[in-house]
Amino acid sequence: MALSPMMQQYLRIHDQYADCLLLFRLGDFYELFFEDAKTASRELELTLTGKDCGLEERAPMCGVPYHSVNTYIEKLIAKGYKVAICEQMEDPALAKGLVDRDVVRVITAGTVTDPAMLEDKANNYLMCVYLDGKKTGIAYADVSTGEFFVMEPEVNLLRAQIVRVNPMEVICNDPPQLTALTGGDIRGLNGQPRVWFQRRNAEDTICEHFHLSQLTSLGLDDKKEATCAAGALLRYLHETQKNSLEHIRTLRIAENGKTMLLDQNTRRNLELTESLRGERRKGTLLGLLDLTSTAMGGRLLRRWVEQPLLDEKEINNRLDAVEELVNDRILGMTLAEELEGVYDMERLMNKVAYRNMNARDCLALCASLKRIPGIRNLLINVQSAEMIRIHDELNPLEELTDLLDRAIHPDAPVIITEGGIIREGYSQILDEYREAQTSGKQWILDLEAREREETGIRNLRIQYNKVFGYYIEVTKSFLSQVPERYIRKQTLTNAERYMTPELKEIEQKIIGAQEQSVRLELQLFSEVRDRIAEQIEGIQRTAQALKELDVFQSLSRAASENHYVRPSITSDGTLSIVEGRHPVVERNMKDGGFIPNDTLLDGNENRMMIITGPNMAGKSTYMRQVALICLMAQIGSFVPAREASLPVCDRIFTRVGASDDLASGQSTFMVEMSETAHILRNATKNSLIILDEIGRGTSTFDGLSIAWAVVEYIADKERIGAKTLFATHYHELSELEGHLDGVKNFCISVKEHGEDVIFLRKIVRGGADKSFGVHVARLAGVPHPVIVRAHEIQARLEVSEINQNTIGQNILGEDTGFRKNEQMDLFEYKKDEIIKELQEIDVMAITPMDAMNTLFLLREKA
Ligand code: ADP
Repeated sequence: MALSPMMQQYLRIHDQYADCLLLFRLGDFYELFFEDAKTASRELELTLTGKDCGLEERAPMCGVPYHSVNTYIEKLIAKGYKVAICEQMEDPALAKGLVDRDVVRVITAGTVTDPAMLEDKANNYLMCVYLDGKKTGIAYADVSTGEFFVMEPEVNLLRAQIVRVNPMEVICNDPPQLTALTGGDIRGLNGQPRVWFQRRNAEDTICEHFHLSQLTSLGLDDKKEATCAAGALLRYLHETQKNSLEHIRTLRIAENGKTMLLDQNTRRNLELTESLRGERRKGTLLGLLDLTSTAMGGRLLRRWVEQPLLDEKEINNRLDAVEELVNDRILGMTLAEELEGVYDMERLMNKVAYRNMNARDCLALCASLKRIPGIRNLLINVQSAEMIRIHDELNPLEELTDLLDRAIHPDAPVIITEGGIIREGYSQILDEYREAQTSGKQWILDLEAREREETGIRNLRIQYNKVFGYYIEVTKSFLSQVPERYIRKQTLTNAERYMTPELKEIEQKIIGAQEQSVRLELQLFSEVRDRIAEQIEGIQRTAQALKELDVFQSLSRAASENHYVRPSITSDGTLSIVEGRHPVVERNMKDGGFIPNDTLLDGNENRMMIITGPNMAGKSTYMRQVALICLMAQIGSFVPAREASLPVCDRIFTRVGASDDLASGQSTFMVEMSETAHILRNATKNSLIILDEIGRGTSTFDGLSIAWAVVEYIADKERIGAKTLFATHYHELSELEGHLDGVKNFCISVKEHGEDVIFLRKIVRGGADKSFGVHVARLAGVPHPVIVRAHEIQARLEVSEINQNTIGQNILGEDTGFRKNEQMDLFEYKKDEIIKELQEIDVMAITPMDAMNTLFLLREKA
């Protein structure tokens, strides 16, 4: 037995897309066969059936209807599959023999363009990593917007760069090596043919794509690794998208060190774009600052938040622009309103390249372009460099706007093949066809009247349907009056339908005009699309300016509404915040509910703050607020404080008490230590480090020793000397002040009020003396007997704490080692007493008899 021809065709095509699930178009369905069918039926909960394939056993099969295929594709992509769409390339009704089929597009997580599968306000990047020994190049692109970047990061910063870009899919010439270099866990990583990455091939691909004869104009001359990555990325896009991708017009070189690298922990701990509870936007810095009017602006702001600047001048440029709009709120608000009318022009350009832009999209583009002269006018008197630049870059593209305005019908339908998309007056010929159709209708009405008159059939009607075209309908009761010249077309139960030569003639005119006008409309429309395609670059540049403007208005509005101030950027390394606030926490409180706090960190005496204080006092809030204020400033945002002078931090690191790392399978302590190691290896004196409760995941002495050593290492100017906030429950660390350069103790004050504790939320100099955890437990509703017992235990532990402190002091003297204290057994109350008695014995003075007696008594007690 042999496979049926269609199955042979299927397998031939499937072979070329072996890493994909192949959706094979069969009439109104997309079908999957064999292993693909099993996978899809499992993942999509579809019924698995079978199809005769010429062999003895039926081929496993499952399918989805063509009109709802997108939802299924979306699910498969979300589960990490690649999907190849195989279409019928000819009309099955007209095909001789087997219908020709081919893959028209491969959809992968990194190449999604369907708006339903994309988040409006987030980029969807595909990244390509090229590895060559110690050298690396990366390229990343968002096909939905046409943005394309390359860079050559140092190998040890590769992971940080991947985290920064946060791609949905990563292709690489050597995935196992990439996994080894970055510690694994890279979303959507897959390998692609190595030849794509070879320099010559890559250069050819790039030159071909950008229609260049050499790479010089792109600035890639001395960037071998970036070239290899960019070439392979373009190749992959062409292989999967199967179109010209003409909206990818340029490639930008992202310089190393231009933006701050934020590792995954820091992004998470500071809740930049996702809250610790996993909510997107809500309760995050981005959610707070994002008052953008356009999706494009939303995406750019997200990028700014995730990639703060490192250059003082650039930061000040942004701050100047924000300040200008803070000072002119009317301008800011008017801009926000105008921008509301601007559509996602970047993603519209993607539709131009994919040739699936419809008339409504053209109207959206036109409406957006029409806003530009007004917006430009509003910016006529701006002063700051960035705003002037934006003003200059806004190009109203009048000719194109005018063309769209004249050409596209304001009520155009989504479907472009049924007419009604081109406006009257745009094309004389089209108008004539249309005229013919309207007059045609009049001719029919006239004819109907005439025929009634001549035949005397009162209810004679001329009607139209798709199968028979125009016909004269006469009901049975009038059949006797039907004249000879009527030609019968169709008999119904109570009527007859007829045709006359005259009616036929009119019909041909009308239908001809209709067909021709639809064909002409389509042609005119595709000419309009070509005109848009010619302007892609101009539109993209204008879109870029619009989105920057949107971000500036958003930041200025956030600044005014939340009473932020402009930070001044210092170059002497001083970080000074007066009445700083946590931007997100304060928003969740009543006005004035948040207690502001000052911060002073300089490169010298005040480098490290050791912060103690009871649970819930506000330690982490305080530390995060400092980190967020620095980060906001480097985004170009105003900051929640009364005054702030801030240095440019090269990196911000946070390490916050391990919580839900258990899921990753690593022990909490291991995770904590590897995060700490990462900080110690990468921080410099210009970094800001936030450490919360380090050393908690292990026994007290281990933890204290490690915390202690970490503090020493960071505080040491020769080693790191970074500005650091260190919250700890090890009161012993307070001993470091005065012994280690630059270290100062602080605590967040609380007041005892009878049984209760009042949180004052104020940071003050000095160490805290007590832990108030038990009070917090009571606030949380822990049963009374547990609280009472906890108080007892606490009292006993305080005695032991004195002992521990003694050991701490020893360490500061000559003796640098810890001696392991015996764990106190809380259930053996007598032990203390016995020890006390032992200590009180003057061994040199007692007689042997007394010694015997005392020993005897002590043993009784034990
Ligand atoms: P800690 O880290 O010391 O255990 P947190 O920083 O988690 O304490 O703060 C606990 C709670 O106290 C926060 O959720 C917040 O509601 C409140 N809080 C913290 N700082 C302030 C402040 N400065 N003003 C008002 N409330 C605060």
